[in-house]
Amino acid sequence: MVRSDYSCEYRRATDSSPCVHYIRIGSGQAGLCKLPHTFVCKEALATLAPRLSHSACQDWRRCRRRYYYSHVLGYKIREEEKSLALKMGSLWDAICNYYLEHRVWPSSDMFDRASFPRVSALLRAAAVLDVQMPLIEHVQYTIEKQLELPETTFPVIKAVLDAAGTDFFLENKLVTRPKDYFDKFNLTSQVGTYFLLNEDFEYCIMQVVQKPEQRCRKDEQPEEFEERIYQDIISRPAHYFIGFDRKTRLFGRKFHRKEFDLAALLWTYENIGREISSAQRYDAFYPNYGACFQYGVMCEYRPICETGAVSPDLYVQRSKESYADQTVE
Ligand code: SF4
Repeated sequence: MVRSDYSCEYRRATDSSPCVHYIRIGSGQAGLCKLPHTFVCKEALATLAPRLSHSACQDWRRCRRRYYYSHVLGYKIREEEKSLALKMGSLWDAICNYYLEHRVWPSSDMFDRASFPRVSALLRAAAVLDVQMPLIEHVQYTIEKQLELPETTFPVIKAVLDAAGTDFFLENKLVTRPKDYFDKFNLTSQVGTYFLLNEDFEYCIMQVVQKPEQRCRKDEQPEEFEERIYQDIISRPAHYFIGFDRKTRLFGRKFHRKEFDLAALLWTYENIGREISSAQRYDAFYPNYGACFQYGVMCEYRPICETGAVSPDLYVQRSKESYADQTVE
């Protein structure tokens, strides 16, 4: 039975608003709830399109429960509780943004004994090797677009790209398995989404950096560990900065718009948007236990799944202000 009559127990409707707690975030999109223990307005989600992104769709496809914790309740793992791979990825992104646009230096909780020597060695090597960037016009480029579809659900897709030029965008990744990021099939969801969102983009540059896999020895100081990694990068730069060309000093690989099946991707977004609204009506955010362990890393929401409790030591709620792009009272 479809629960089209889904209603929230906290709802307080007024003449001008569906609820006094409701935060509008854009036409046709399910907005947020001001109450502290909530994030997305569940009543709105039952009828309006969710805001989607490439990573939200990945979460949805992996496990509905994971999507629910992350995108409906808005929980994210605290920086200091992230796995080493996630920590290094965040630190790398933050430092690249700092250098590209002189943004704020990453906060101290992003630096730790395991991730910093690796990231620092890469940055030092990039400077010595004189690694160049293509001509970039925007850093942390945000695009939001409502898809025009002939159905009743019109998912709104939001993306924050690492950087963009006039007719291209650039993705810079620090990863364990670079070859996954040169596989067109694997890339369709993310790269195809950015092509969908901006018709001026003709191509993308995937700049993939191999994560240093060395381990710190028992008797090794962090500075010695960093130096060992640095020397290895200098001795074989193309192993780390994939596709590094000693003449141009550029690295990465180009992918063109026409290489991706964008019609199929649009159809996928349409269906995922509809499935999420339907899941809210049916209360169907069920777990997928087969997806808990992926690429050698346990799902960060497992403690909630196991205990049913959300520990404030492990999780924080995403900022409603930045999600809604407005001040939330
Ligand atoms: S731990 Fe497993 S079941 Fe729970 S949210 Fe993560 S992937 Fe889903």
